[in-house]
Amino acid sequence: MSSFLDSRYSALEEYVPGEQPSDGKYIKLNTNESPYPPSPKVVAALNSVEVNKLNLYPDTAVSEMTRRLAELYGVKRENVIVTNGSDEALSFAFMAYARGGVAFPDISYGFYKVYAELYGCDAKIVPLREDFTLDPEDYMNLGRMVVIANPNAPTGLAISPSDVERIAASNPNNVVLIDEAYVDFGGESCVPLTKKYKNLLVVQTFSKYRSLAGARLGFAVGDAALIADLNKLKFSTNPYNINRLSMIAGAAALDDAEYYRANGDRIIAERERTKLELCEMGFECTDSLTNFLLVKPAGIKAEELYIKLKENGVLVRYFAQPRVSDYLRITVGSAEQMDALLAQIRKIVGK
Ligand code: PMP
Repeated sequence: MSSFLDSRYSALEEYVPGEQPSDGKYIKLNTNESPYPPSPKVVAALNSVEVNKLNLYPDTAVSEMTRRLAELYGVKRENVIVTNGSDEALSFAFMAYARGGVAFPDISYGFYKVYAELYGCDAKIVPLREDFTLDPEDYMNLGRMVVIANPNAPTGLAISPSDVERIAASNPNNVVLIDEAYVDFGGESCVPLTKKYKNLLVVQTFSKYRSLAGARLGFAVGDAALIADLNKLKFSTNPYNINRLSMIAGAAALDDAEYYRANGDRIIAERERTKLELCEMGFECTDSLTNFLLVKPAGIKAEELYIKLKENGVLVRYFAQPRVSDYLRITVGSAEQMDALLAQIRKIVGK
């Protein structure tokens, strides 16, 4: 840290992303990416003449993607903003709405705490129940912004849209943000509720289900006034937030729903199969509705299993933090990757 850094950032604890080894020698099950490449339509679109236009700035309105997303989710264009990963949507939303305080679960996406600190927000950290389920009553009438990942990460568990509706209705003077990064793996989206609740903002990503983590694309859906707020912050920080190639990739991805549904179904099937096999070994798994499993190993400590798996070429995520330090978060990959994972685990635990 230099002596020039503003003192308000000196104690900031930055977000630590999962390891991204560049040598490709690992079976990578640590950052919830899709094991499948983007749709062939995406690849074809990127090979087009667009590359020759990289000398020109991109469309600040991200018109094509915004139009298609609005059509897909049955809203108007002014209800959608495309962002540089959903992290950027979260960043804008914390900047916009959390200064008066924000509440989120104790076990959830690690970036919420970082944004709260970065933007000087008072964070009310609400413990999940013992079994990691979320009690909607904890979020009623809070008088502050509410942020809930649904399904949650790293628990994989979801609350119902009717619970989200009750939370939104009971906090009419604050924004309720529902982070649906993992919704396409079996969850139920709250996007339709954004038409009824002017304080409800739903955030999604192209990083998981749509195999575009490397393109950095996310979006938020909500009342036009909320989206205007987020655009105000976008145009005050980075008007060209989506680069030309990513917006082409995103638009093409929206053209191939079938491809992604087939991959999503495969991932769901692998999740259930892996869960069953781990349970047979005495491991505990939450009822995940995402593309990862939260797993409590049996006969070996989670951290030790994480280290041994890594030594054997399989990368999973270990969180050295209270309540989940006995667990591993394992991304659901292809059948082959899951076979390799299960074989390594069997070898390590001697089953
Ligand atoms: N929300 C949740 C719950 C996540 O787990 C992640 C990624 N790990 C994100 C948002 C951010 O994803 P991205 O910026 O790639 O869209």
